[in-house]
Amino acid sequence: MTPPCASHAELSRPQTRQSPSPRRSLTATFWRGLLAAALLTVAASSPDHAATAAPAPAANKQPPNIIILLADDLGYGDLGCYGHPTIRTPELDKMAAEGMRFTQFYAAASICTPSRAALLTGRLPIRSGLNRVLNPKSKGGIPEDEVTIAQALRAKGYATACVGKWHLGHLEKYRPLHHGFDRYFGLLYSNDMTPLGLYRDDKEIENPVQQASLTERYTAEAIRFIQDCRRGGAAKPFFVYLPYTMPHVPLAVTRKFAGRSQRGLYGDVVETIDWSVGRILKTLRDEALADNTLVFFTSDNGPWLSRKQHAGSAGLLREGKGTTWEGGVREPCIAWWPGKVKPGVVSLEVGSTMDFFPTCLALAQVRPSANRTIDGESLLPVLLGKGRPRPRVLFFYWLTELTAVRKGPWKLHFKTMQEFGKHAEKHDPPLLFQLEVDPSEQYNVAKEHPDVVAAILKEVARHKGELKPGKPQT
Ligand code: MG
Repeated sequence: MTPPCASHAELSRPQTRQSPSPRRSLTATFWRGLLAAALLTVAASSPDHAATAAPAPAANKQPPNIIILLADDLGYGDLGCYGHPTIRTPELDKMAAEGMRFTQFYAAASICTPSRAALLTGRLPIRSGLNRVLNPKSKGGIPEDEVTIAQALRAKGYATACVGKWHLGHLEKYRPLHHGFDRYFGLLYSNDMTPLGLYRDDKEIENPVQQASLTERYTAEAIRFIQDCRRGGAAKPFFVYLPYTMPHVPLAVTRKFAGRSQRGLYGDVVETIDWSVGRILKTLRDEALADNTLVFFTSDNGPWLSRKQHAGSAGLLREGKGTTWEGGVREPCIAWWPGKVKPGVVSLEVGSTMDFFPTCLALAQVRPSANRTIDGESLLPVLLGKGRPRPRVLFFYWLTELTAVRKGPWKLHFKTMQEFGKHAEKHDPPLLFQLEVDPSEQYNVAKEHPDVVAAILKEVARHKGELKPGKPQT
């Protein structure tokens, strides 16, 4: 299933096609002058501008397109708009200024495979059995009976593409084309594993992989897919899942990005991803798709701190990847949808990558199957400014063990660790932190709040009572 390819010339279309006529431009500018300055950038590049540029506006009667951009091992503190002092991320900062930036958003797990399984299914990884990181010798993968966002949307007429790191099983039956994606281009697992092949659909096309140019090649593939969907005549809505391979180690960039960042190679890698996000959002504007496309950017888990200068930063959060401290699971998350998501909003609502599944299904008007538990909740009320009615409860596992729970502003730890379960310490009684007051998890307040501890233990009992763990995939 080889996708039709746009030429590289087509990927960078002439500037003249993007410029409105002077008269239209002036009229539009007058009306736009009534809007806040922060809106100008959005307005100048979206609907009426684009109507005079490339294709005619997309029919908004069709459900929105959805794009999920997922970094790998990017920390909470690694973007300019999340406070990094030397990594420059102007495109992501702009995306946040034009959209919604979450400050209490979580990956569903602190390591790659379980986190991705949960993102695509809306379910805790313990339910699918994808509890641990798969490797090139693994025999397991995403079970047949799990439903991914791509499967659910494709059944509703969406064109679907996965571009990037899969990591939900490398054997053929577990690959993207067998779990709802029409197209695939990327690596089947992490870039520190060998043998490392690059796949197009089900076929290996490069081995060993030239890693330095991966982000740029992923970007070109995603743009080509968007343009194919836009111009293909079928006018299908699309879903693009783009899990970048980096900044997971080993880090590499092309000459174009080398030495750009004062943060060194790690900064160069993040700035390459920032460039990629900018290219994708620009494509949506150029193709007059911006007002009918919801884009999320987040990461699969926190920074791999033992990789030192090649690891990211969790900012003010404690620890990193492979732990259920905040640094392992709380992530940057930006949502962008001009005209629908208000610009410049910083949301303190608690969210999870598991929320993408019900959010996408709600947008496509797909009803999830009643007989399977979905742990995520639709983010639409938050995105559309209608609030969220009740405090969230999020359960965090290390492999098959429940180690922490967040309920409202509180987090209870039964077991803590440093990196990949090392130096694990059980806590009985459990530790309690008030995360809105103490995001760095420094001050255990369990003794002062026995009622909160009891309420969370009740949630745990309820959860354990209904939980049916999936067969462990290894
Ligand atoms: Mg990861």
